[in-house]
Amino acid sequence: MFIYEYKVNPKPQQITAINEGIRTSQFVRNKVLRYWMDNRGVGKTEMFRYNTLLRKEFKFVEDLNSHACQTAVERVLKAVNRFYNNCKKQVPGKKGYPKFKKNTRSVEYKVSGWKLSENKKHITFTDKKGIGTLKLIGTRDLNFYQIDQIKRVRIVRRADGYYVQFSVQLDPRDTVKPLTPSQKAVGIDVGIKYFLADSQGNIEPNPQVYRQGEKRLNHLNRKKSKKYKKGKPQSRNYHKARVRYARKHLKVSRQREEFVKRVALRLIQSNDLVVYEDLNVKGMVKNRHLAKSISDARWSKFYQWLDYFGYKYGKITIAVAPHNTSQNCSHCGEKVHKSLSTRTHICSYCGFIEDRDINAALNILQKGLSTVGQTGSYKLGEFNPLAPLEQSFGVTIGL
Ligand SMILES: [Zn+2]
Repeated sequence: MFIYEYKVNPKPQQITAINEGIRTSQFVRNKVLRYWMDNRGVGKTEMFRYNTLLRKEFKFVEDLNSHACQTAVERVLKAVNRFYNNCKKQVPGKKGYPKFKKNTRSVEYKVSGWKLSENKKHITFTDKKGIGTLKLIGTRDLNFYQIDQIKRVRIVRRADGYYVQFSVQLDPRDTVKPLTPSQKAVGIDVGIKYFLADSQGNIEPNPQVYRQGEKRLNHLNRKKSKKYKKGKPQSRNYHKARVRYARKHLKVSRQREEFVKRVALRLIQSNDLVVYEDLNVKGMVKNRHLAKSISDARWSKFYQWLDYFGYKYGKITIAVAPHNTSQNCSHCGEKVHKSLSTRTHICSYCGFIEDRDINAALNILQKGLSTVGQTGSYKLGEFNPLAPLEQSFGVTIGL
């Protein structure tokens, strides 16, 4: 599945209609969830039946396309199943009991309730919400695809406006020619000081632009908090500050995403095999000292892109378990204890000297090579490479 995204500029009454559609979808979702909570053991069939009842009871629910209502029910089902799975697998910590949504930002249609114009530059929503026709602004040409390849259409509200996304059924491998083998394998170690170091001796620094962006983001967040009044209606200035913060946040997220995507693509294009450490990011974030840098470093997103591009270009990605990769000597295999602040690996057994992270990357590569046959930790179906934020309007790399 590919997600193609277009900016749209709805008129004020269209905005009202879109927001109304989003609100209805949230209403259905929350109602069905309540129904599930109140009636132990109800499953898929009962939930869909309840949705039909809601459509009969509320005119505004009936006005929303029936498939769009169904996707709202599917969202509940997904949340419920995730919760059940976590319980069954006895995942440590919170199990993610489904929650009511207060701030839904999208409404999702399936194959009905909308129509594309002849040249596929306009979309008309045909249900009774009255959204009408929207011009699709973007460089992607939908004419490359058959209408029946479009499986979902989503309207998304973001801090900087409205977007329409099409999810097109397509195998990413069909869109590219296989690359000439590079005859290279690489191990990578993601770090705190750098974004990553690889076994070929390259270091990818953390992007400066992101640091700057974050500073400004914190600044805007503080400004917003200062204007917040507890227990009172919020002032105009508070809302202005809130919107400013949200926009900056969106921009920073897009920059981050573009960065990890670019690095992942480069690694896949210049190597045939990429080995990375399957850090249990969830577990590591608990370590307070590392927490900030780790959630910063958006590693798991990066690994998802690696696996995705690997699949797309027919390259191999391997995830190995982290175990002493930074302590062991990649040259002789002896354990050389070092604290987090020791930046250089100096082996007292064989005299091998290397940057700490590059030594780790070498260990990771060795581990990977000894386990070839395993696959990456992310299964393709679980990762939607171009879901909402991932592909921002107007920015696409090599897709
Ligand atoms: Zn050594």
